Amino acid sequence: MSDERNTPVENSDEHTSNFIHTFIDRDIAEGGDYCGKTVHTRFPPEPNGYLHIGHAKAICINFSTAEKYHGVCNLRMDDTNPTKEDVEYVDAIKEDIRWLGFDWEDRFYYASDYFDVMYRAAVELIEKGLAYVCELTADQMRLYRGDLSTPARSPYRDRPVKESLSLFEQMKNGEIPDGAMTLRARIDLSSGNFNMRDPVIYRINRLRHHRTADRWCIYPMYDFAHPIEDAVEGITHSLCTLEFEAHRPLYDWVIENVTLPARPRQIEFARLGIDHTVMSKRKLRTLVERGVVAGWDDPRMPTLCGLRRRGYTPRSIRNFCERIGVSKVNSTVEYGFLEHCLREDLNMTARRLMVVLDPVKLVITNYPEGMTETFSVENNPNDESMGTREITFSRECYIERGDFMEEPIKKYQRLYPGNEVRLKSAYIVRCTGCKKDDDGNVTEVYATYDPDTRGGNTPDGRKVRGTIHWVDAACCTPVTVNLYDDLFAVADPEADDGDFLDRLNPDSLQVLEGCVAERAITAFSAPAHFQLMRTGYFALDRDSTPDHIILNRSVSLKDGFKK
Ligand code: ATP
Ligand code: MG
Repeated sequence: MSDERNTPVENSDEHTSNFIHTFIDRDIAEGGDYCGKTVHTRFPPEPNGYLHIGHAKAICINFSTAEKYHGVCNLRMDDTNPTKEDVEYVDAIKEDIRWLGFDWEDRFYYASDYFDVMYRAAVELIEKGLAYVCELTADQMRLYRGDLSTPARSPYRDRPVKESLSLFEQMKNGEIPDGAMTLRARIDLSSGNFNMRDPVIYRINRLRHHRTADRWCIYPMYDFAHPIEDAVEGITHSLCTLEFEAHRPLYDWVIENVTLPARPRQIEFARLGIDHTVMSKRKLRTLVERGVVAGWDDPRMPTLCGLRRRGYTPRSIRNFCERIGVSKVNSTVEYGFLEHCLREDLNMTARRLMVVLDPVKLVITNYPEGMTETFSVENNPNDESMGTREITFSRECYIERGDFMEEPIKKYQRLYPGNEVRLKSAYIVRCTGCKKDDDGNVTEVYATYDPDTRGGNTPDGRKVRGTIHWVDAACCTPVTVNLYDDLFAVADPEADDGDFLDRLNPDSLQVLEGCVAERAITAFSAPAHFQLMRTGYFALDRDSTPDHIILNRSVSLKDGFKK
């Protein structure tokens, strides 16, 4: 397994293939350790927080790679670190992966189930003279780690095997205080790769574990535990992020020196970063704990549950992950590209609906009082199979306050006295004036309609420039609308080691009360998606009820993403 084989190769067709697949193809062609095996990957989250869009990339890579080779992918809770893990997170992780549309079938595991295997592996290494109990404190170890020209030191390195075996057992039995001893792999104190300078593989930590409770007071370090977890599960390709690249020699060393049922291979890919947000669970947890957001699923969060509540669809996220590709270079993707992928999906799938966000009443003075007409309109002009719905029209309707100007500015083509506009799908109306309150605020707008323009058509072919949306005042429903913007005011909230909490966007949430929607909306429940004419794509919030309808803006209509 030479390093050369793990460097990226050019691949022209990034949509169907990537450098990971190229490696696997080579493994299959060459036989060797992978001869006749089924490609077997895993997604190994640490259950200490909710999954975010970065995890979605790793999930897509692991599950899609398995799928491509007719292999399988495990879901494994990487819970060897006893702090902070929580059942709430385990359930949420499963829900999010299922929501994305991936299935681990019956292959759900906990790394903590392998604590016995790991302990035996450590004993094996001691017996082979490849591990020893070291009594340097953490501070001393830092002091003795050396530098590029000076090797690391440990006075305990040549301690007899028997002594290490007995001390390690005492560590396990709780006879040694926390931090007093560690078990270290005996590899190479002068390695240019500091991960190989006799790394600690077990430490004493009297912390209660969420599954094994107080059975263990020693816990394996990630670099030692992970290759064992992979091998025990028969993983063939262990796909992880780039920060583990310098740990690969240690991964391979463990596979090489411990008796294990399989010889998995680690391949690294770049982490996903997105602008205007943070992507580490620790920072996201801080936002939740400080009350900056309403919870892990606040629609401004880059978590999968947050994006779901915002109105993101599994397909839009999977398309996004596919299209950003897999590379060996860390980079930041524009948030606009994620939004672009959502628009693309919703344009084809979301029903159209009219909602007025800032309503003012429009009275059609020549329309008979008490009369109602019904128009049949398409639910989605891009998809006939989505059918039609009925909208009603009567003497009074609501329009956007911004669609009327008593004294129009230049090029204004909506309602102003004397001007004609089209009420979408209904009639052409001509504005005749308005009523104002004592403060000069417009309280009602007046217009007359042309009965010959039913459906919004002009039989005489005359030009009507403006088309506006509206809602029948006699048949509408009040709704609350949440408008979201970037959570952070700057593209890189973590730049220059600054405090990301100082860089929040104070206007990331705007709540609009008193909006009005077509009554058709009452028939839906979350997570229904809509394209509100001229306003954007919206989704019903999970707290929305027919008595209190809440719409979250998923994304605006205008695509700012430059291809
Ligand atoms: P965080 O820093 O957000 O806590 P993590 O790497 O500690 O992330 P894990 O639960 O250990 O989170 O991650 C599970 C898997 O998801 C790992 O294989 C990890 O490499 C991958 N992963 C995490 N963040 C990203 C990201 N931003 N882009 C791609 N993959 C990621
Ligand atoms: Mg982690």
